[in-house]
Amino acid sequence: MTTIKQFLCGATVAGMVAGTGAAVGVPSGLSALTADWLLAAEHVLLIGVDGVNLSKVLEYAYGDDSGFKTAMEQGITGASSLTNHTTLSGPSWSTVLTGVWDDKHGVFNNLFRPEPYNQWPSVFNLIEYHKPEVDTTIISNWEYLNQLAGAGGYSVDNNVFVEAGDSPADSDAQVTALTIAQILGTEDNPDDISSFLFSYQSQADHAGHSFAGGSEEYMQSIINLGANIQQILAAIAHVQTITGDDWSIILTTDHGHQQTVTLPGLSIGHGFQSPNETSTFVIFDQAGDDSQDGSQNLAYSTVDITPTILSLFGIPLRSDFDGVSLVDDPSVLNSHVTPDDLQQALLAAIAMYGYPNIGNDITLAVRTVIGSVPYFLDKFVTGIDNFLQSIVDQDIFLISGLAEIAQQINEFFGGLTVDVTNTVAHGFAYLLGAGVIAPTDAPLPGAAEFTGSLESLLAGDTFTAPDVGDLDLPLLLDVDALLG
Ligand SMILES: [Zn+2]
Repeated sequence: MTTIKQFLCGATVAGMVAGTGAAVGVPSGLSALTADWLLAAEHVLLIGVDGVNLSKVLEYAYGDDSGFKTAMEQGITGASSLTNHTTLSGPSWSTVLTGVWDDKHGVFNNLFRPEPYNQWPSVFNLIEYHKPEVDTTIISNWEYLNQLAGAGGYSVDNNVFVEAGDSPADSDAQVTALTIAQILGTEDNPDDISSFLFSYQSQADHAGHSFAGGSEEYMQSIINLGANIQQILAAIAHVQTITGDDWSIILTTDHGHQQTVTLPGLSIGHGFQSPNETSTFVIFDQAGDDSQDGSQNLAYSTVDITPTILSLFGIPLRSDFDGVSLVDDPSVLNSHVTPDDLQQALLAAIAMYGYPNIGNDITLAVRTVIGSVPYFLDKFVTGIDNFLQSIVDQDIFLISGLAEIAQQINEFFGGLTVDVTNTVAHGFAYLLGAGVIAPTDAPLPGAAEFTGSLESLLAGDTFTAPDVGDLDLPLLLDVDALLG
């Protein structure tokens, strides 16, 4: 018999050894061989849905046919927040997948750079380094995440990128089908191989950008995602009856969405600090623990997800994580509540989140504006003027203060290439607090060393820094001037 799962309490183990596996929900009639399986393989599924507002889930997809509700009923839900951190996909998924915030990993936009993950290894890197026998998989239709899973040395075992397809919904359906196939593949697992699977879907974010978070299209995307997740959870229930392996399941998003757009198809949608954008959620169902199903935790955060996954595999946590394990951290365990009405309790928790302090609000807004310019340059080339105008037109907190800066950025970046622009933006993001905290843990042995110090980036062979005198940098950093 292989290692007993760490979460099993002594009484439960004793019950299983005595053949009374029903104590942990094993279907009756399982053979002794199957009971062994229960003790053998650890399976962790992380489902990522991009840009999903929990408030909209509770409004549109809180029925028995929705996987969102099923996941909440099978686990513990936290209405978490990104307040004081950038609400863009690259930075926010990097937080989910590294266990540290953007002031450490330094990711500031959606243009992939490998360097951050050399210093701050991803959950894939940490599993593959410490327990290479775990079968790791990513199934994603956003290539950035596939690149992330392949970075940092010790890369993911199975890196599956799903093309955009005819529509975001079609692409997500394909992700769902591949995810189910991967789960069903564990039916035949004679060597008791443990697994970690990250399954990522993106249609809500597409709908939010094109039509806004308050649109019917966004509503439909939430309903679709709920149906997809329901199918994935049904697949897990199916294999569980065959193998006896329970699965730990985490369901999360990277940020929310603004409720309106001013320029359809080219709205930024998120990236700032309004409560609709900073709103996130974490739903956690720990294998073998059904005692708190359907309840709520007030301390869950997306930064906790990587530490939690590592602890489920018995892998030691880094000392410089910002997150903690949801399995056993005292501050998390002490924040558990059992509301009479989970839906209302979660809505109340969402309503408690406001804006950060004004300095952080502006600093992060400026970082998003600057960091988005090279990204949009990459995507639309000629769309920057429209993009900046859409920001100028945004009727969100303090946005008028950004109009003048946006104009300066537009002039400053004119004529530069994506790479050069992104390097400049990297410099500004650093000045605005992204990546300023260095790791205290050593890099993983043999992982490529980070060679791009800010100074070398700005003065390297391939790039000479332009004259930044044209850009009023003190204005960017001077809150009073912005408010004036
Ligand atoms: Zn996103």
